[in-house]
Amino acid sequence: MALIFLSQSTCAICGHFLMPGEHVKGLPAISNTIHPLFYCGFHLQCFQNWEKKEEALNLIKEEKQKFKNSEYYIEMVTKYGIPKWLEDDE
Ligand SMILES: [Zn+2]
Repeated sequence: MALIFLSQSTCAICGHFLMPGEHVKGLPAISNTIHPLFYCGFHLQCFQNWEKKEEALNLIKEEKQKFKNSEYYIEMVTKYGIPKWLEDDE
């Protein structure tokens, strides 16, 4: 999960400060991946233009699928239903 402090954190892609009022994003904490982008914030515009965007999105998709196939996920969904952050995928 990305911890973002506006005016203090920098964009993981362009290196400029993330300022209030800008479209700032972070990726979901869905795995134990060590990819640095999973712990940083970035400008939405920078991400949209990033050459590794497709690679990152595919990684997220793969990790989400692995999570959904896990016994833990199946057990939790059975007890509590599908978590909000994954509802769009269903
Ligand atoms: Zn940026």
